[in-house]
Amino acid sequence: MDDRNLVLTGFMATGKSAIGAEVARQLGRRFLDTDTEIEQRAGKPIARIFSEDGEAAFRRMEATLCQEVSMDQGLVVATGGGTLVDRRNRDRVASTGTLVCLTCAVEEIRRRLTADGTSTRPLAEGDEGSGIQGLMRARRDAYASIPWHLDTTDLSVDQAAARIIELATAVALTVRSPDGGYTIHIGTGLLAHIGDALRTAGAAGGSRVALVCDPVVAPLWSAPAERSLRAAGFRPCLRCLPGGEQHKCLSTIESLYERFLDAGLGREDTVLSLGGGLTGDMAGFSAATYLRGVRFVQVPTTLLAMVDASIGGKTGVNLSRGKNLVGAFKQPALVLVDPQVLNSLPEEELRCGVAETIKHGIIGDPELFEDLEAGPTGRRAWSGEAGTMRIKRAMRVKISIIEADPLETGPRAVLNLGHTVGHALESASHHALSHGEAVSVGIVAATRLATALGLAHRELYERVEAALLRWRLPTRCPAVPIEALESAMKVDKKRALGGLRWILPRRMGDVVITNDVPPEVVRKTLLELGARRST
Ligand code: NAD
Repeated sequence: MDDRNLVLTGFMATGKSAIGAEVARQLGRRFLDTDTEIEQRAGKPIARIFSEDGEAAFRRMEATLCQEVSMDQGLVVATGGGTLVDRRNRDRVASTGTLVCLTCAVEEIRRRLTADGTSTRPLAEGDEGSGIQGLMRARRDAYASIPWHLDTTDLSVDQAAARIIELATAVALTVRSPDGGYTIHIGTGLLAHIGDALRTAGAAGGSRVALVCDPVVAPLWSAPAERSLRAAGFRPCLRCLPGGEQHKCLSTIESLYERFLDAGLGREDTVLSLGGGLTGDMAGFSAATYLRGVRFVQVPTTLLAMVDASIGGKTGVNLSRGKNLVGAFKQPALVLVDPQVLNSLPEEELRCGVAETIKHGIIGDPELFEDLEAGPTGRRAWSGEAGTMRIKRAMRVKISIIEADPLETGPRAVLNLGHTVGHALESASHHALSHGEAVSVGIVAATRLATALGLAHRELYERVEAALLRWRLPTRCPAVPIEALESAMKVDKKRALGGLRWILPRRMGDVVITNDVPPEVVRKTLLELGARRST
């Protein structure tokens, strides 16, 4: 967790002081309650500051404190309910801090105010809480502009503190794209904040959100997403598409259009993919084309989709003659990654994502590779703050490549490391190997070819193979006939203008794109890796 301040704001009695103090205690940080600080500096309670010096004097003291907070770091701050209603105060503390607005049901606020017998809240007065509702209305827009919200109505102080700490440990990356750019939020528990993130990304309150899921993901993860969207003022509707690569086709897209029409989805509305790469590719293609394009959001639920498919804007479907032959570039308005959803991901699907993550390490992040070759393995590697950091590093490799080549005109091809042999293996083995397993063998084949051509040292090959093996990924070809592999590669070659391209690693973090690999070296390498020689 970085040193940015953590600033809690929100209406009176939402729990800012108690929760802030608990968060500070758990994080071992200094806690500053702006109301208490002002009372100490003035030497009298806030009610007397209001009655003797006037509200304006109190607001000036708040502004001074916000200025001081913005020049400090590592603080947990609980502000007064009105402190950040002033835009200048808000901008100041936001420049060096993460802001969270606490909310609470009016009934509960009344109950809490009565229970603690608070008579020192000058602005809460009014018949039967009418002061409360009027103030809430007046502050609504200011609070809505704060990125993260947490409803404390049904939470204990400990539960709320845990949720705040999750928000504080989330990280954000920005991606430059031909449309301007977008933010990627990564952090445990963030799915429950998708509504906040969408509001901050510019979607209008009250607009519709078509939540696109497959039948496996919908019962697992759509409920928290829908709850959060509703709480943030959106109108979500769930739209399921059939799972499985065989349904990644134009007829599924057409049925999605029909469901969008049924839901009354308009130009100002949003298509949100909550799922793996398959859902993302189809939801994205439908968002790119429905009404000539509507806002698109990616919430990836597989490791593969997190580190790879959800960023870069490639969307599309298969035709009967090949994969991903029809599609569009559609940049998301927002990507939100919550590693918690990986808890339900089957082991073999997790491994597919690991193969892509190792690939990203080889392409552009030697430290990420070292971590994957020596750090923890299995599910635990993708949870907690360390899991968030691994996902972030893998995403950063892809981001730097797609920013340099957003429309895949050249250098982006490095992302296809392992895919030349991988795709051929998938089809020649009639999908006996999953995509991730085929890419794993493809990475080994590319590294072995690089050593055979004298581009890379043998040690590189040994490291790559060992890393894949420790994640229980295959490093040998199944015994498919070499001719079948070669003709599958030729199909790819016909599709790639300029001939079959190889992505070969030279050193860790350094790969080269080349067409110049003699077929006999490829054949020898694949035979050494287990392809079957014809009789
Ligand atoms: P997928 O979406 O089919 O997901 C794999 C399986 O995991 C499915 O059965 C799904 O229901 C299940 N699943 C997903 N999330 C889950 C969760 N949290 N808990 C339990 N089960 C869950 O496939 P994928 O591997 O994520 O992606 C593969 C697809 O992505 C391919 O179609 C490929 O072409 C595409 N892709 C696109 C890009 C791109 O840049 N657009 C990049 C790589 C791959």
